[in-house]
Amino acid sequence: MIVSAEETEGIIARIVALRREIADVARSVGRDPATIRLCAVTKGHSAAAVRAALQAGVEDIGESYAQEAHEKLADVPVVGRRHFIGHLQRNKIRGLVALFDTIQSVDRVEVGRAILQASRESGRSVSVLVQVTSSPTERFGVGVDRAPMLAEELRTMGLHVDGVMAIGPLTQDRGEIRRSFEEAARLFSHIGGTTLSIGMSGDWREAIAAGSTMLRIGTAIFGTRVKRSAAVE
Ligand SMILES: *Cc1c(COP(=O)(O)O)cnc(C)c1O
Repeated sequence: MIVSAEETEGIIARIVALRREIADVARSVGRDPATIRLCAVTKGHSAAAVRAALQAGVEDIGESYAQEAHEKLADVPVVGRRHFIGHLQRNKIRGLVALFDTIQSVDRVEVGRAILQASRESGRSVSVLVQVTSSPTERFGVGVDRAPMLAEELRTMGLHVDGVMAIGPLTQDRGEIRRSFEEAARLFSHIGGTTLSIGMSGDWREAIAAGSTMLRIGTAIFGTRVKRSAAVE
């Protein structure tokens, strides 16, 4: 995947425009735009796309697949913060701790324990978010009712739990999306931390209204992703 100078400029222009839109929406709901971070989700895109985002001043990069991230981020300067936002497999955790600053997708105690162990062995500190789901159709995430207990267990073992991550429901019903984000926000105020990671390309406006402090945006910046084969998972 080659990114031409023209494509780099396109990515930078979309980030500038998106930032402006985010600021407008934030102000329209009485929020300070400076309290909302933009995490550029680069899965399915090249190292050159990551560099373009960094060039545009993006400080947070999100990746979903361990192997893809290892190959790609090796070619990218270590600046800002790297967030792992994909499903966690126990056997990949050591590598993820070496590469990422924040692991946003912690939804069970066992992966928390593996992260803590890898972090102690490598001397690298990582922070984690509790991934919550309010939708029974979501495969990953801990239920809203069990999330506070999970956060407490993770903290008790010694992990730095910095907030909540949620993926909005796959629906066109804006009310349902809003309600789901509001539930994540209530949970965030209960669990505490600095990061409420909600909002993607299709639902970031609702996420800002609900209190998001980090939007995870891929498609609206980089365009549609090339469909990945199961082999690179
Ligand atoms: C892919 C992904 C995103 C970005 O989604 P877009 O719709 O492309 O903006 C955000 N969060 C998670 C967890 C993802 O897997």
